[in-house]
Amino acid sequence: MADREYAGAIHVHTAFSDGGTPAEAILDVAAHVGLDFVVLSDHKTAGVRRAGLVGWHGRTLCLCGPEVGELRRPHFLALGLTDPESLEGLSPKAALEAAQNRGAHNFIAHPHAARLRGLQRKPVDWSDWTATAFCGIEIWSYVHDVFDRAVPWRLPLVALAPRRLITGPRPETLALWDRLGLSRRVAGLGALDNHAHMLLGLFEVYPHADVFETIRTHVVCPELPADGAAGAAAETALIDALAAGSAFVAFDAWADSSGFRFAAEGPGATLSFGQETRFAPGWHLHAQLPRPADLTILRDSLPVLSLRNTRTADLAVAGPGVYRLEARLNGRPWIFSNPIYFRP
Ligand SMILES: [Zn+2]
Ligand SMILES: [Zn+2]
Repeated sequence: MADREYAGAIHVHTAFSDGGTPAEAILDVAAHVGLDFVVLSDHKTAGVRRAGLVGWHGRTLCLCGPEVGELRRPHFLALGLTDPESLEGLSPKAALEAAQNRGAHNFIAHPHAARLRGLQRKPVDWSDWTATAFCGIEIWSYVHDVFDRAVPWRLPLVALAPRRLITGPRPETLALWDRLGLSRRVAGLGALDNHAHMLLGLFEVYPHADVFETIRTHVVCPELPADGAAGAAAETALIDALAAGSAFVAFDAWADSSGFRFAAEGPGATLSFGQETRFAPGWHLHAQLPRPADLTILRDSLPVLSLRNTRTADLAVAGPGVYRLEARLNGRPWIFSNPIYFRP
């Protein structure tokens, strides 16, 4: 079956925890702006699932991925977890393992959280990398990217023009991702961590309609079951594709990234982002962008090909490594592919 591309938003808080908007209203907005899916992530609750909201809402698929972890402690998203309350009091590593044992697919949230330098808040970075019960990490988070530069004199921009503060994924997060990928596949997600509170009852901070236009994760997978009763099967299939890294992350407000592809062709086989194989001579990487941009292909964090203003790239694979692609559009961070892994 031919693959389809599904672009969606991940890590959105609703009124089931500390978000400012009821889940139903968020789903209406997601459908209105044309998202194919949205992962609703509330602190320590699967209220979205209990309310029967997982499944199709028009052409938008709602998934539930509770955010596990205590206030001002490390967090992870547990996609598919039905009972996050049961993890109360566990260490981050023990909670990861318990969630995985309950069938969840875990993704480390904001591994390097916003610094909020001028505001003296302590970051909630993930620190225990002896933990292995996760299939991916958030490589780029909208609110954390904006807040990372939220020194007091920039507060007008933080409030009114947050996109002007976007700098891209944190370099240490990308370096960490590349390092983790040396020993196993680790899927990269784009996240929002949006709460959309009302300020003084007058002004909505970061309205979902605006934020849904920014960082999207594009999943490439076989067509999801879409008939009315198929919501649970569609959720499972999409979570599996996210966990497999069959996806890329893009800031679609700069330009729609749909149609981007990064693949490898070799002796009798083709690989797409997220996949791995044993290295052998004769492999080539191919990239295709929906519009001209500046692209870089990296091998184990080091650039091995940089092209300006191009829509295609082709590179012979010189040896084992974690190969991924970054594209910038007019100097701004745009597309980040999941890696293709060539093992020694
Ligand atoms: Zn968090
Ligand atoms: Zn969050």
